[in-house]
Amino acid sequence: MLVIPIGAADMPVVMSLLNSYAGLSSAATGFVLHNNVLIIAGTLDGFSGFILSILMCRAMNRSITNVLFGGFGAVAGTDTGATGTMREVTLDDVANQVVFVPGYGMATAQAQHAARELGNLLEERGVSVKYAIHPVAGRMPGHMNVLLAEANVPYSSLYEMDQINPEMPQTDVAVVVGANDVVNPDARDNPKSPIAGMPIIEVDKAKSVIVLKRGKGKGFSGLENPLFFKPVTGMLYGDAKSTLTNLAQAVQKV
Ligand code: NAP
Repeated sequence: MLVIPIGAADMPVVMSLLNSYAGLSSAATGFVLHNNVLIIAGTLDGFSGFILSILMCRAMNRSITNVLFGGFGAVAGTDTGATGTMREVTLDDVANQVVFVPGYGMATAQAQHAARELGNLLEERGVSVKYAIHPVAGRMPGHMNVLLAEANVPYSSLYEMDQINPEMPQTDVAVVVGANDVVNPDARDNPKSPIAGMPIIEVDKAKSVIVLKRGKGKGFSGLENPLFFKPVTGMLYGDAKSTLTNLAQAVQKV
């Protein structure tokens, strides 16, 4: 009952918190049954889950009280008033200094190797390539780091949100690979947005933004993203893996 009204981007915190409650209830069961293993394992599970929930709240710039009692989910899916025309771009429009911003879509498409291959090709042509990591991109903490490490992206090319944001105005192209909520400028610009105050990767400050996604699907929070309607943004529709592979082929021909 407590978590029914909670939704949108707060859901991961709730999942981790419930996990923590499960641990604490195991510990309580351990006390009843006089079982030390249950007490120790339950306490470790409960407290690590609780610490993780707090860290996730910090990453999203929200207090745990707000998550639990703020009724966040009641407004999930609200029409945020984002309107206009989405600008579609073609493969020829993508060029020069690039920051990749991966999100959950990169994970579902398993596009990390394709991103790395495109990054390599660009670097061979003298382009500076960076990968911007938002703390809650994907569906678990460190999700993007794990995927990019699997694709052998060097650690030195990974940039935390706070490191990359000041560089955005000098970035020629920000390539958003299946990310949505973590690049939603409403979190910064619209105090009435359900995700107001959540830190974002400010791709809209780059000279050009290319968003790779399959269609007009919403992100985890269910909110429309005004980034997709900005003049600086181009939408490149398709599965992220095949789009990145096509982009790499286009770059090879240049
Ligand atoms: P997101 O907001 O969930 O958006 C993912 C986007 O990827 C969607 O808009 C979807 O659009 C696109 N997509 C899906 N499959 C794709 C594919 N095969 N190829 C290309 N695009 C694809 O992702 P995010 O920006 O990474 O944000 C993460 C969200 O999850 C946040 O709201 C965060 O709070 C939440 N969360 C995070 C954690 C964590 O710990 N990291 C845990 C649970 C939840 P289309 O459908 O149009 O393709």
